[in-house]
Amino acid sequence: MDQWTAIAIAAALSVWQIAYANPPCTSPLPVTSEIASSMTSRVESHLPRLNTATVLADAVLEQETFAASLFDALREGTTRGRGICRDAYGEGESFAHRLLAKTARDLGFLVDHDAAANTYVTMAGHDRRRPRVIIGSHLDSVWDGGNFDGAAGVVAGLIAIKALKESGFQPRCDITVMGIRAEESIWFSTTFFGSSAALGKVRPEIWEKKTRVDTGKTLAEHLRACGGDPDRLRSGEPYLNQAQIAAFLEVHIEQGPVLEAEKLPVGIVTGIRGNWRLPAARIIGKYDHCGGVPRAYRHDSVVAGADFIHALDELWREWDAAGKDMAFTGGKFYTDPQQHALTKISGEVSFSLDVRSLDAQSLAQLEERIHAIANAIAARRRVQFELGAATRAPVAAVAPAIRASFEAGAAQLGIPARLIGSGASHDAAAFAQAGIPMGMLFVRNAHGSHNPLEHMEIADLLAATRLLTWWLATHCAE
Ligand SMILES: [Zn+2]
Repeated sequence: MDQWTAIAIAAALSVWQIAYANPPCTSPLPVTSEIASSMTSRVESHLPRLNTATVLADAVLEQETFAASLFDALREGTTRGRGICRDAYGEGESFAHRLLAKTARDLGFLVDHDAAANTYVTMAGHDRRRPRVIIGSHLDSVWDGGNFDGAAGVVAGLIAIKALKESGFQPRCDITVMGIRAEESIWFSTTFFGSSAALGKVRPEIWEKKTRVDTGKTLAEHLRACGGDPDRLRSGEPYLNQAQIAAFLEVHIEQGPVLEAEKLPVGIVTGIRGNWRLPAARIIGKYDHCGGVPRAYRHDSVVAGADFIHALDELWREWDAAGKDMAFTGGKFYTDPQQHALTKISGEVSFSLDVRSLDAQSLAQLEERIHAIANAIAARRRVQFELGAATRAPVAAVAPAIRASFEAGAAQLGIPARLIGSGASHDAAAFAQAGIPMGMLFVRNAHGSHNPLEHMEIADLLAATRLLTWWLATHCAE
């Protein structure tokens, strides 16, 4: 009998003893050697996986001090002023990657890097040729950000494989924790760069075209300075082969108020919103004198813009009432400072638009409706809408089997959780779009995200990591 069978039997017997300690209508039965041996064969054939998974998941609870010390080290090494700055392909992000690599080596895991300077920490499986499971998130942050955005997912992965290793578990396939570079779009005006590069999905023109907002240096220069190899990436050969990845799992702070408001530590993500964006749209009217031009003669771009945003808010209300998912913002909205004036009717408004939905059909319908709204306002207000080139990101689907398994695990482990859509984009979307089965867990956090007040309780991260570890112990067992 190996140790896992022994643990499973002990767990099964304790469940059995609890069940019989308070029987509904029978007297307690002693656990005789005959019963124990008949239990042994039953346990070996049916129960060990579930019970072993629960025992392994609970081993995560011993990682609290280790997890807290990693976040302390990250905070100490990457605080700039009030907040955290782990700049993409810069000193802050590289500090986090060095910390991950050193910690992982000290724990006896395999450490590797790809040409995009992503970090891979691997717990070797019994059969290394089998498709592996990757747990990953980003190690960069925004400027003046919080300590948990991205890093929480990498720490979750690391404490999951540490707990599994210390419990003597050997997976049948490799389990890899991936520290991902450059997820935040603010540094190079491109999202998911690290994950896209690992998957061989980076457009060739990006290397010299994209420069970092603060340094003005190209992505290729920054990448090289961090030990990456843009020439190798230019060949387009992926480091990660889709066929060799069984699943990609990401733990991430929620970055929203829902889990906190509902007092739930964990969210099981149902999908990641796709978006349709207008980065540079304009409304063209006519500059005129406020006093001299009667209402009926005006071509007022500000009033047309106000109508437009109000109509989109009404559309959102309608979508909400119908139980359909939507979010939007006209995040940039301004008149021309060279031309606008207190006494002028404005002849031009520039704006941006970001429209999102968890449902691909909704997203297409919204695009159509918004075009119709713009046309109607243009006619009514005697202005022109120039919407410019749109960008689109498809909805990223969570694999139904992974989601169902997370739900089963949460029920079995007694972790209070709810299903939740992801309004923000994450690296997991890049993996889903590459055809890799994807799953995500959210951890409750306070004070939003992308700001220094962002807060997460370690106990909540441990709850999500117990569920993650349960999943690994259930799906990566021999
Ligand atoms: Zn993030």
